[in-house]
Amino acid sequence: MMASAMTNGNNFYDVLGVQKSATEEEIRRAFRKRALQWHPDRNQSKEAEQRFKEFNEAYQVLIDPEKRKMYDRYGRTDVGADGGFTGRGFDGTDFPGGFGDIFDAFFGGFGTRREAGPQRGTDLHYSLEVSFKEAALGVSHEVELTRTEVCETCGGMRSKPGTSPVSCDNCQGTGRIRRSHASFFGQFTQVVGCNVCRGEGRVIRERCPDCRGAGYHQNPRTLSVNVPAGIDDGMQIRLAGEGDSGVRGGPPGDLYLSVSVRSHPLFRRDKANLILDLPVNLAQAALGTTVEVPMIDGSVEAVVVPGGVQPGTLLRVKQKGVPSLTNGRRGDLLVRIQVVTPERLGPRARKLFRELEEALEEESANGGKTWVEKFKEAFKGDDV
Ligand code: ZN
Ligand code: ZN
Repeated sequence: MMASAMTNGNNFYDVLGVQKSATEEEIRRAFRKRALQWHPDRNQSKEAEQRFKEFNEAYQVLIDPEKRKMYDRYGRTDVGADGGFTGRGFDGTDFPGGFGDIFDAFFGGFGTRREAGPQRGTDLHYSLEVSFKEAALGVSHEVELTRTEVCETCGGMRSKPGTSPVSCDNCQGTGRIRRSHASFFGQFTQVVGCNVCRGEGRVIRERCPDCRGAGYHQNPRTLSVNVPAGIDDGMQIRLAGEGDSGVRGGPPGDLYLSVSVRSHPLFRRDKANLILDLPVNLAQAALGTTVEVPMIDGSVEAVVVPGGVQPGTLLRVKQKGVPSLTNGRRGDLLVRIQVVTPERLGPRARKLFRELEEALEEESANGGKTWVEKFKEAFKGDDV
């Protein structure tokens, strides 16, 4: 497995800065706000076009209930009805046509159009669910995915081995077609990508029999992924180079795993600390006690509850939390005291509580003030 790193991920929700539960109206508002700020017509900065494209991409998916559902489930939107992944048009979906052609039509240049050179493979986004304990202690997890990989038979060249592509007749090997149009603005020439060779200038005469000329396969893979101890709900694991293969010799994309952590019946997380509620009865709270407390790693620690402890008091067991992914330091276990009042009393307990009540009143009368006296004092001289 290649190096992995943790990021908080640029998923579509983050791009638009909305919650996963955002309503359509909230998504629309978030997009409008960003579009106004970043539209290339208004914003002259270098990254404006790129930023605007990202916002637009996120918006197009999240505003469409079907696409959004698919994105939430699979982290991508090109999933077929049966749940299998459909092929992505890596060899010409945004070519010809798109942004560039509008400029080309008026200025006669190829402008911003992408050349048919090597392209990096698409990043893949999958989700990975782990148990609370696995997240705290770390685990090796198998992840099943489908990705685009270069056809081994033709090495991605798309031709039958031993043959090679020939120059495209339609565009004389240039990959471009000039078209003249009469329009409202007058006569102009439009340059568009050749639809026969998809702008590549060459066509395959004999297709590779293995991939039928695609140059790629959609392969199911099972990867073993090291989930580091301390990973938290909502974090992302990036596996460099484990995404789709690159196009025309480009490097592969990365694989992003969005981690969700299941809840635990006893423990909760607060960053590197773990929190555990410990119920003690009234007598234990008043007198103090020692309790055997389970740790997340399965061990048991004796925790001393001091006499007179108040509900909500946190008792710290050092270094029994989870490791922090930012500094590697292990957090603590915070044992939170819950004082449990008995709901029903047997005759003996009832008798003892009566005696206890008397004793407590007696003691508070001898020393200090009663609660009622303190209460009255607090309002003394007050007009209320
Ligand atoms: Zn092939
Ligand atoms: Zn052509």
